[in-house]
Amino acid sequence: MISVAEALAHLFALADPLPVETVPLRKAAGRVLAQDVFATRTQPPFDAASMDGYALKSVEADLHAQFKVVGEAAAGHGWDGTVGAGQAVRIFTGAPVPDGADHVVIQENVSRTGDLITLTDDSDAKSNIRPAGVDFFEGTDMAAPRRLSPGDIALLAAMNIADVPVAKRPVVALISTGDELVMPGETPRPDQIIASNTFGLAAMLDALGAEARILPIARDNAASLRTVLSLADGADLVVTIGGASVGDHDLVADVAAEMGMAQSFYKVAMRPGKPLMAGRLDGTPMVGLPGNPVSAMVCGTVFLAPMLRAMMGLPAAPAPQVRRTLSAPLAANGPRAHYMRAVAQGDSVADAGAQDSSLLSVLACANALIVRPPNDPVRHAGDAVDVILLENS
Ligand code: AMP
Ligand code: MG
Repeated sequence: MISVAEALAHLFALADPLPVETVPLRKAAGRVLAQDVFATRTQPPFDAASMDGYALKSVEADLHAQFKVVGEAAAGHGWDGTVGAGQAVRIFTGAPVPDGADHVVIQENVSRTGDLITLTDDSDAKSNIRPAGVDFFEGTDMAAPRRLSPGDIALLAAMNIADVPVAKRPVVALISTGDELVMPGETPRPDQIIASNTFGLAAMLDALGAEARILPIARDNAASLRTVLSLADGADLVVTIGGASVGDHDLVADVAAEMGMAQSFYKVAMRPGKPLMAGRLDGTPMVGLPGNPVSAMVCGTVFLAPMLRAMMGLPAAPAPQVRRTLSAPLAANGPRAHYMRAVAQGDSVADAGAQDSSLLSVLACANALIVRPPNDPVRHAGDAVDVILLENS
């Protein structure tokens, strides 16, 4: 058995970088920027008014000074002339500040009669002008890799980058295995259950920016598993669920080996999730997850998510951990790392109750995993522990 860190290192070695594709800006949110991009313009492209008021010369902006209004500048409608001595231009937010002016007096500090304005207050020391390029200059870069947030999308738009180079969405084939499984919505026999973690994993992978494809359920025989594995053709990652421990009906390792899988590892010192396996089949990375619903979901968080991030070009790093304070004690841990379903609230965290790896009702209430290293001693309320915050928190 290998450690979680060793298993992750093997998975990163299997995580081939995906090709780059160009998508329209509207489709780029949540995708990973694959190449540095550069602003094609300066923003703002001109000195711009940041307030509604009057553009004039700052040296003349004394209390009670009077100016003749000689023109108007609005957003999208610049004024072409030059502001001379004793002159002002009516200006609105976003308009280019005309030549000759270096100050915008806000309209609240002005009284106007016809074309004549008088400054009624000279307390505003600010110029109320945004200089050209205060946001960014032509050629400013947005560096890859980076998962594009809504704010990034707005910045790319302002940079006039309409087509964005991003990592291809990894296609992940999800294969459930088991004679006992039926799909949600079907009517199970009395001895059957519903394939559940398959759908939880698909949701998790889609949220990470992958494209999960749920293949038909493979039955517990070699021919069925071979058939479904062949349907995974074209996927960037093949994930099997269940049939990964050594039992009469645990076929995945055998069938994959028979089909030529080069195995990287089998079994990780963790719970839940010990019978994890990975390798490469026909050049495509393959991960075999344990079937127990919570084990599969925890392995998705601990292994698949970091692996997919690496495939999309993000740094190869474990699931991020934060420190939280225990609000209830924890018994000593055994020799395997333990990822305990937990509820985090503010700075504190407590285990979410029964930790059996079949309990999806407990997982659904959890918003965190407490990470216990192997042989972690008894922990008391008030102790700090490492926590992975789950996406649903
Ligand atoms: P296995 O690894 O195939 O021995 O499965 C371990 C346990 O997980 C068994 O109780 C299976 O019925 C259950 N299981 C396997 N795959 C799934 C699945 N996709 N959804 C829900 N339960 C599953
Ligand atoms: Mg099974």
